[in-house]
Amino acid sequence: MYKVTLEGEDAVIRIKRNLMNQERFSRLLDLVNLEAVLEGGRFAAAKEKILIGMVGLPTGAALLRDPVLNKDAAFTEAEREILGLRGLLPARVQTMEEQVQRTLENFRKKAGNLEKYLFLISLQDRNKTLFYRVVIDHIQEMMPIIYTPTVGQACLEYGHIFRRPRGIFISAKDRGRISELLRNWPQREVRIIVVTDGERILGLGDLGADGMGIPVGKLTLYTACAGIHHAHTLPVTLDVGTENEELLNDPLYIGLKQRRLRGAAYDDFVEEFIVAVQEVFPRTLIQFEDFGNVNAFRLLERYRDRICALNDDIQGTGAVALAGLYSALRIRGGKLKDQKFLIVGAGEAGLGIAALIAAALAEEGLTPEEARQRCWFVDSKGLVVKSRGDLRGRKLPYAQEHEFIWDLQTIVETLKPTALIGVSGKQGLFTQPILEAMGRINDKPIIFSLSNPTSRAECTAADAYTATGGRAIFASGSPFDPVDLEGKTLAPAQGNNVYIFPGVGLGVIASGARHVTDEMFFAAARALASLVTADDLARGSVYPPLARIREVSAAIAAAVAEVAYAQELATRPRPEDIPAFIKSLMYEPGYQSYV
Ligand code: NAD
Repeated sequence: MYKVTLEGEDAVIRIKRNLMNQERFSRLLDLVNLEAVLEGGRFAAAKEKILIGMVGLPTGAALLRDPVLNKDAAFTEAEREILGLRGLLPARVQTMEEQVQRTLENFRKKAGNLEKYLFLISLQDRNKTLFYRVVIDHIQEMMPIIYTPTVGQACLEYGHIFRRPRGIFISAKDRGRISELLRNWPQREVRIIVVTDGERILGLGDLGADGMGIPVGKLTLYTACAGIHHAHTLPVTLDVGTENEELLNDPLYIGLKQRRLRGAAYDDFVEEFIVAVQEVFPRTLIQFEDFGNVNAFRLLERYRDRICALNDDIQGTGAVALAGLYSALRIRGGKLKDQKFLIVGAGEAGLGIAALIAAALAEEGLTPEEARQRCWFVDSKGLVVKSRGDLRGRKLPYAQEHEFIWDLQTIVETLKPTALIGVSGKQGLFTQPILEAMGRINDKPIIFSLSNPTSRAECTAADAYTATGGRAIFASGSPFDPVDLEGKTLAPAQGNNVYIFPGVGLGVIASGARHVTDEMFFAAARALASLVTADDLARGSVYPPLARIREVSAAIAAAVAEVAYAQELATRPRPEDIPAFIKSLMYEPGYQSYV
């Protein structure tokens, strides 16, 4: 906020910094000086009107159509007078509380979740301040709508429910012009980009440009959960085509109707995008999101030491799973190194989880080899063992010296894991006999069914509790309702990387970290685990309630910033009190006064 006090006078003008650019501010100062001479520094409403024109604040209908500035019926009498809103709004000035009440009433009346999603999206397009107030204050209720599972449904139907574009769409046709496209984005101070090429949207597969719902949803969560102002966020879709026949044949599909770019053409396209971002939005954190397995690891490795980048599906999932395991051990006792993890799904999420477990085991004194021996993998072709000839790349270090077994139930009964972690995207993979086996092997089996959306979960909360007589320590990627079993209500938490990425992003931005490191995700996992209370555990939840998500994100951000300073990656001076500084950065939606 700029505060201009005129010498010797009592007139003070406060102009919100985000309402104008530097050039306009200089012109305003000239005007202020001029006015000071002419009027002795006293500003009547008419003069304020001129000033508002000078700073470029839209007036009248244009103001009501600007989702960042709009307040709907909450514009005050003075604002209505000065900003040309008389007659454009009903007479009674309403409070934000009243607007929230109306929003909730309408939201709850909507017939289905997709209807609720569309309702919220249109509110976001109309009045961002109100949207974020509602989402933040009712996060538990809103999260399943703006994020998994409903966002998955929205992506499946994106071309059919499409109303207006959000974010930047960069297609294969835009080769050579990507920086020009980025310059079309109206905001200049972008701090975080979530980018997808739509190849692996949740567990739903290749949705091409229809995957845009995910970057939009993730960035909404950056704002709601970690208070990163929406003006600093930019969702991007790299539309490189799709292999999805249904979309290629759908007249309402919004993306390029061509097969996916592959090989050098793909890599060159991504490279141009990365270079363009460095040019147009330097210092921006890039989150790679829902890329296909073949590209996700490669891109992260190629860019993580060159720019500021993370892959949430790999690193964020690893951190949230590790935090859940730490909490689970508080219930079942023992150390991480005493566990045997059976990870079902050896893709981005699974390998990310194993990498963080290995980091944690190293802290408990294990060698990398000993750590890997505690992580067993199953992929679509069975147990990951050395005798398999088809294993490539990142799975290889986890191939165990063991006979090959194909069937998951036999694998569980043979290996006797203490923790069964599902990240396969295959619905119902954890059958009743498998869950019962986990219950026979363990007094308190750890069962995480992390695949998204709900339709891809390996098992439901009710499945896990029923098969184990309520003894399972359960978490799921998408939310499940509490389960009543033998007079006890078990309310499992969502084991979702939403607990991690907003805080990591905030910590990176706050410290100005040049890179995002594995140590930051490890610190994030520990910070998250430290916030789980005995009450949470008693409810059957290995994470804090979502209602505490902003506190969680702030704590993670502080932990991540500490790592950035310790690793000498920070480019901002170290604040005296990191947690207080982090909190001071967090956007809190509320209407500003314009006059
Ligand atoms: P991916 O495509 O990289 O990997 C999927 C893995 O599952 C592959 O190794 C594949 O071989 C294996 N698989 C497929 N069918 C199988 C079967 N029948 N039995 C055993 N393994 C099988 O995908 P990913 O990025 O790892 O994501 C997987 C799932 O995890 C998705 O549903 C995704 O939504 C979910 N996920 C959840 C979170 C979270 O925060 N909860 C985060 C990231 C990913």
